[in-house]
Amino acid sequence: MKNISFRNRMILILLGLSLPLLWLSFALAESYFLRETARQNQQTLRLVISGLKGALLRYQPIPALLAEKQNIVSLLSNDLRRVPVKTINEELKRISNDVGASDIYVIDAEGNTIAANNYDKKLSFIGKNFAYRPYFTQAMKGESASFFALGTTSLKRGYYFSAPIKLDGRILGVVTLKITLEGIEQNWKGNTTEIIATDRHGVIFMSSREDWLFKSFAPLSHEAIDEITNSKQYPIDKLGTLNASVESSSISQADLVNVPAPPDKQQSGNAYFAVSNLMEEAGWRLHVLSPRADASAQAYTVLALSTLAVLFIASIAAMIFWRRAQLVKNMQLQRIAQEQLEHRVQERTNDLNEANKKLKLEVHERTQAETQLRKTQNELVQAGKLAALGQMSAALSHELNQPLAAVKSYADNAKAFLKRNNLERAEENIGHIAQMADRMAELGTHLRNFARKPKQAIDIVDLDTVITAVNQIMSARLKETGASLQIKKPSEQLLVKGGLVRLQQVLVNLVNNALDAMQDSSDAVIDIHISADDEHVEVEVRDYGQGIRQDDINAIFDPFFTTKGVNEGLGLGLSISYNIVQDFGGSLSARNHADGGAEFTLQLQRAQAAQRAAE
Ligand code: ADP
Repeated sequence: MKNISFRNRMILILLGLSLPLLWLSFALAESYFLRETARQNQQTLRLVISGLKGALLRYQPIPALLAEKQNIVSLLSNDLRRVPVKTINEELKRISNDVGASDIYVIDAEGNTIAANNYDKKLSFIGKNFAYRPYFTQAMKGESASFFALGTTSLKRGYYFSAPIKLDGRILGVVTLKITLEGIEQNWKGNTTEIIATDRHGVIFMSSREDWLFKSFAPLSHEAIDEITNSKQYPIDKLGTLNASVESSSISQADLVNVPAPPDKQQSGNAYFAVSNLMEEAGWRLHVLSPRADASAQAYTVLALSTLAVLFIASIAAMIFWRRAQLVKNMQLQRIAQEQLEHRVQERTNDLNEANKKLKLEVHERTQAETQLRKTQNELVQAGKLAALGQMSAALSHELNQPLAAVKSYADNAKAFLKRNNLERAEENIGHIAQMADRMAELGTHLRNFARKPKQAIDIVDLDTVITAVNQIMSARLKETGASLQIKKPSEQLLVKGGLVRLQQVLVNLVNNALDAMQDSSDAVIDIHISADDEHVEVEVRDYGQGIRQDDINAIFDPFFTTKGVNEGLGLGLSISYNIVQDFGGSLSARNHADGGAEFTLQLQRAQAAQRAAE
């Protein structure tokens, strides 16, 4: 039991419970169908009896009526006026046809038939003696009688009605009317339910089954056999017994009749569920027998249906259990998957924590490296400052020493001329001293410019104004050197972002450098080419000098870088210009022109674009 799953156990229990239920349903169904069979058989029985009664009652009064007919009475009397037998025969024939009787005949007191409807037939009753028939003997006693028998002449089963023919209290003979019941019997055939009629001895004289005719359920008594033999009621050789057992059942006063298979025949025996009733008028018992197997078959059908229903319910239950088991299994799988997922997440979290630790370490190292870098940078900046300071000191001492030496010598000269009272020469030398002082003051101005405030206000400047100012500032030197500016610019007004004076300072510086580069040529030309797009304005200043040495091209914007001699350049012009342009959000770059000469490109932001950017 341990190996059987809960589901299978439940199915077994269900099946176990359903077995007694099935048995009960079979028993109930069988009893129901038996009751139903009994009820139907009773109904059939009532119909059969009323059919038979109807047939018999129809003919019963006819012989008595015929017996009273004058011509029939006179036939048996010695009446001289009697009608010819032939006429009576004819009349009997007509009446027989009219009422649907098989035969009608007149028998005299000795039992001889003297008139009959079948007078003209080959098997005519005329001349036949029926003194042995009970219907004759009884009628001769003055009573109407009836009798069922096999016709000895016709060999047809028939029912005989007879009535005495009386004249003045004497019984002259008997009128007999015979009917066949084969038509009625024929109606009983054709289905599994058997209908039989037995007489007072229990002999089956009408039957839906041919092989049961003239048989009885139980063997006949000797008296009965003698009586039948004497009356020639049935052919003796056909009499026999079915050896049927009859048990009364508890259902609807029905009997269980068991007819065993006859020893000499191939037919199988059969069990019947039977009802019967007495038909008092004729002294007959009518039986209706239905095969018990029919009810059983119906009960088996119910059993089969019940079994199917049980199986159906069991399969639905199995299905429900199966679905439930699947659900449980799926949930288990889901739980396992979830656990695996959680496990994996935990693993990942651990990995992440590990990676996080590493990252933190790296960040720490980076921070340290950055601090170190910044420290190094600061040191470098400090070193750069010191280098610049050194460079500046060298340049300044270079620039100052020379006028100071000159001042010293002019002062010495002035002193000497004053001693000699040469005031004119003394004044001349003092004038030189004043000039030297001016030069040194100019140097001071340059240095101030270099040390200018980086963030001065930035305006919008008309480039035309700047160019005009540059022309004016440079006019004296241009005139002196015979050089000229060749300016190309678009006709539109170009507003740029910057400061007017500082922009002038930049351009003046570029023009001065260009003139310095071309001081050997007599009619030097400086091209100033201005162009603009939506965003920028470019000012290119090109000369036709020797150009910038390739080695110097990266250094020319450094402060104090100069290739010029003492008193010719401090090396601050381009450095200052570069920073000014940077302040304006523009740029200054230098290159050598492919056709010779240096070309400086000053790029400035257009005022509109600058405004938009500011917005
Ligand atoms: P300075 O003019 O006092 O030397 P700048 O900073 O103006 O200082 O110029 C630095 C150097 O750049 C110059 O000494 C010179 O060597 C070089 N330079 C500037 N302009 C030109 C030019 N138009 N042609 C050739 N070299 C130039």
